[in-house]
Amino acid sequence: MSHASSAVLVINCGSSSLKYAVIPSESIPRSARIEGLAEALGTPAARIKGKTAQGEAFTLEVPGGDHAQALEAILQRMEGIPFSAIGHRVVHGGEHFTHAARIDAAVLAAIAQTTPLAPLHNPANLTGIQSTLRLFPDLPQVAVFDTAFHQTLPEHAWRYAVPAGWYTEHRIRRYGFHGTSHRYVSQLATSLTLNENVSTGPFGWLVAHLGNGCSTCAVWDGKSLDTSMGLTPLEGLVMGTRSGDIDPGIPAHLQRTLGWSLADIDIQLNRHSGLLGLSGLSNDMRTLTEAAAQGHAGAVLAIEVFCYRLAKSLAALSCALPEIHGLIFTGGIGENAPLIREKTLRLLSHLGFHLDAQANLSLSRGSAGRIELASSTPRAIWVIPTDEEAQIAAETCALLEASPLH
Ligand code: ADP
Repeated sequence: MSHASSAVLVINCGSSSLKYAVIPSESIPRSARIEGLAEALGTPAARIKGKTAQGEAFTLEVPGGDHAQALEAILQRMEGIPFSAIGHRVVHGGEHFTHAARIDAAVLAAIAQTTPLAPLHNPANLTGIQSTLRLFPDLPQVAVFDTAFHQTLPEHAWRYAVPAGWYTEHRIRRYGFHGTSHRYVSQLATSLTLNENVSTGPFGWLVAHLGNGCSTCAVWDGKSLDTSMGLTPLEGLVMGTRSGDIDPGIPAHLQRTLGWSLADIDIQLNRHSGLLGLSGLSNDMRTLTEAAAQGHAGAVLAIEVFCYRLAKSLAALSCALPEIHGLIFTGGIGENAPLIREKTLRLLSHLGFHLDAQANLSLSRGSAGRIELASSTPRAIWVIPTDEEAQIAAETCALLEASPLH
């Protein structure tokens, strides 16, 4: 049985949300894709917004509905859409998963074992998998891990300089996230560059994935060699509500001097910091760029810190690459915020990145393009819309083609 010839249902379960998309084997415009989102699950405000099999938009209130109930309601509206496999996003695969995996009892147990590393995400991902296993016991299902792409990091990049037993006994190390997106956009940049027939590679890319969560990655010859996130998605860049890197002495200082609990500090660093904490206004970059244009001091500061720390991270990751061919911006901010690209690139001219201001402003939303000043630089600057759902579907098909159903 061939799985490459029909659609894959892609499921991405968060703790109170569920995103889904049907990815056909033939390429269609993103706007024609049947996809949707269930949010506020488990609360009275739970609702689903999506598209039916006929492509009509619908909103459905499902007060108190959980992941399984949302999924059933979604599937009712998708009747008539054939899909032959299901691909699940799973956030943390620990060291166990270096590639996507066909879901069976052993894979479920291994995902459950990594739960201490991702206590919010992995249980939600497992809930989604268990729901679809119940609803579609005969369909092949595949788990695609955010961490898997970064399992090629060399040890000197993934070790923390802490007592060795932290790693050998407790697996405290850098794992990295957003791997599906970093893989997708770096592969696309490589194939677009190969099409130009100017070089046959291998290529070295610096990637900035800038959404609500943000991370950088150094990719050489298709492999991740370093990335900014670590054991958890808190490490690295300034994000919507996460602090990114801070002095590791700060939590102990706060506990000692103010008596704050580690649980409280963890919440402050994950949910009240980043762009939101700095600006005192919003975690949303669109709101901040608008407010900064009106002179809001907090928004101006948040944007300055965000871009400076992003440039610093990209410069640091350049150490991982034998050669730099280009930089790729992706994610909601990377794809849509010319101001952020411009401010960041202004700090990276010493690495040979020179922006074409006009191209930066005129790149239309949702399209891939190059925005470097062609006359003055050997380094490409790409804006590439990420598509994690398409990547999960492609990995699902590839795995099932390589090991078909018995
Ligand atoms: P997620 O990580 O949840 O997938 P996205 O990749 O959609 O998030 O990115 C969300 C971020 O992108 C938000 O900060 C949002 O404000 C920002 N964003 C989207 N469009 C724009 C825009 N036109 N200008 C600035 N920021 C934008």
